[in-house]
Amino acid sequence: MVKMKQILLVLIIAISSLTFSQVPEKLKDSQPNILPVRGFCIAAPEIKDLDSFIKFIDEELAPRSVNTLILRVDYNYQYESHPELRDSIALSKADVRKLVAICRKNNIRIIPQVNLLGHQSWAGKTGNLLRVYPQFDETPQVKMPEKYEWPNPDGLYCKSYCPLNPDIHRVVFDLVDEICDVFETDAFHAGMDEVFYIGEAQCPLCSGRDKAELFAGEVRTIHDHLALKGRKLWIWGDRLLDGKTTGLGEWEASYNNTYRAIDMIPKDVMICDWHYDRPDQTPVYFAMKGLSVMTCPWRNAGNAVLQVQDMVKFRKSAASEMKDHYQGMVQTIWSSAGKFLDNYYGRKPENSDNSPDSQIVCFKALFGEIKKLEGTK
Ligand SMILES: [Zn+2]
Repeated sequence: MVKMKQILLVLIIAISSLTFSQVPEKLKDSQPNILPVRGFCIAAPEIKDLDSFIKFIDEELAPRSVNTLILRVDYNYQYESHPELRDSIALSKADVRKLVAICRKNNIRIIPQVNLLGHQSWAGKTGNLLRVYPQFDETPQVKMPEKYEWPNPDGLYCKSYCPLNPDIHRVVFDLVDEICDVFETDAFHAGMDEVFYIGEAQCPLCSGRDKAELFAGEVRTIHDHLALKGRKLWIWGDRLLDGKTTGLGEWEASYNNTYRAIDMIPKDVMICDWHYDRPDQTPVYFAMKGLSVMTCPWRNAGNAVLQVQDMVKFRKSAASEMKDHYQGMVQTIWSSAGKFLDNYYGRKPENSDNSPDSQIVCFKALFGEIKKLEGTK
């Protein structure tokens, strides 16, 4: 019997070494590395920057083993379901197909983003959704200022739509379905960060309701719609964190009591946990709630390196039940793709004010650290 076991063992080793040696080099790169998600998030390029961006994907993202590209599309696409919502200059179907092709070639999963709920305006400018459909505005009584400044008496950061408006989802789900179809993807990023206006007293539908329940309800509604076609929902994590208790403040976390929604949303919503000033260890909190999480740095390279090390450490030290909730890292870029590429290829300086903060240095440091920890460099 012992001898039989030995023979079996030898056979298994022989077969597995044979299988491993036959895995082609290219396929090895597409296998899960030290972190399942190695992501990059940026605004979708304008048409004029499309070719330069495709070159960047091929020559800069792919060699760093980036396998996830979150593209903030919003209204930069020629929607056929709602042409009234398109930006004046927007990507065509053929343009998107070029992005899909280059990502497919490099085993990169594209996740398109359209901001839902919050971020329906920016500074003094109303976004396309509320400009065309002002009846969806959660705070129609708040007028857009000529010159935006923060703080302001209205507490206006960005407008929100009213999640209880009976017609809102009919419109936005057309966009969600169309953008997922054209990007041929099984995941959608709904944004949902920095929602300051929610459950407002002046809204006849929302007033008096629990803000955490309103937020969770909207997450669930979007999640369930995506699930009909087997698609996953990704969101930013800040509304699920308690800003006061943690000291994280009202941007990276919630001051308006939405944080209890963390216990009310489906567990397969993917959380993009952004922290730009300090490497707070909030992924542990999300993971312990049964949610999968990625840490998202921006332009502080020192913090990004610490955040990679933390993420790897969390995975190594976690019980098997929790390990896979620590999904990885996503570098976030908050300039336009065109401006980022100008900076990246040295056509224009990144900072005019000699600030040490750099998205480019952060991006390189983040992926350099992942490679270092993988022992591949
Ligand atoms: Zn409302």
